[in-house]
Amino acid sequence: MIIYAEKSLESNLQAKKILEKHSNSDIIWIDNHKNIFDKNIALTREKSIILAKWKNFIQNAPDWYWFAGTNAFFLKNSINCVFDCDYCYLKWAFKNYDLLFFLDYETMKNEVIETIKKEDNWQVNRFYSSDYSDNLATDNLTDFTSEFIPFFETLENTKLEIRTKSNNIWNLLKITAPKNTEIAFSLNPSEVVEAYEHKTTSLDERIKSINTLLDAGWNVGIRFLPLVEIENYKEIYDNFLNYLKWKIDFSRISSVFIGWLLYTNDDYNNILKAKPLLDLLYKLHKDWDFYRENRWVRDRFYTKFWEFIKEKKCNICLDN
Ligand code: SF4
Repeated sequence: MIIYAEKSLESNLQAKKILEKHSNSDIIWIDNHKNIFDKNIALTREKSIILAKWKNFIQNAPDWYWFAGTNAFFLKNSINCVFDCDYCYLKWAFKNYDLLFFLDYETMKNEVIETIKKEDNWQVNRFYSSDYSDNLATDNLTDFTSEFIPFFETLENTKLEIRTKSNNIWNLLKITAPKNTEIAFSLNPSEVVEAYEHKTTSLDERIKSINTLLDAGWNVGIRFLPLVEIENYKEIYDNFLNYLKWKIDFSRISSVFIGWLLYTNDDYNNILKAKPLLDLLYKLHKDWDFYRENRWVRDRFYTKFWEFIKEKKCNICLDN
């Protein structure tokens, strides 16, 4: 494997740790990650790792993004994913698939503090990590959780959400369950995981991780996202919900969101180009400015999930 590291990271502790751990890799020192990451590189070759410095890690999340009444932000600390979900926007969003990690954690923390200072302090600040990657899956490399979970514990009125399809919870179990972090697992039926969420942790392993973290006192959320209209979807999702009822005590889950595949017009054209044979895409219909499943399909699922999880606890993501 090749690791590209920016020369500016020569004295960065996390970079040193990663390079020592991977001393058998080919290490190439570079001036700027953009010289590699912004170039078109054959998407079929083995993924490389790029270690870099950056700034402007924080982006505003849209007003309608998930928890109502919060100041919501994306924390962009890494780009690209070790997993390979067919429907993912990472299929077209960047020019290559190399795993890019930004390692100047102190700058990142200062940006979080400065961002909070500018906001109304009567609203909760919520930072979503793993929007461009899966931070838990790569935690052994980056130490993201041991760096940022304790940091968020020092902040008032501020939450961190780490969304994941990984069962890599071992580092989490070494620390005391925090108040300000929620680990949010994406769940889908095994039929969907096996067909479309390549390299991700199996459904049963994700459920096992959920229960282990709950027993250790963690805030655990569940994201049914994206629900997809596969063949026999009614039966498959009904069986899935019955299975979960038996496996997970939802009264202990801190938050639940459900949502469908959703693309803007431009994104839909991009994913069609990247994955022309992906059957899921041909189930979507134009609905105002988006492509998504039919209204009646979505409504049937909302009703089912509400019955199952109880309406109050089950939030709908990006739909009206
Ligand atoms: S786990 Fe998330 S970020 Fe990674 S490929 Fe799948 S959808 Fe994309």
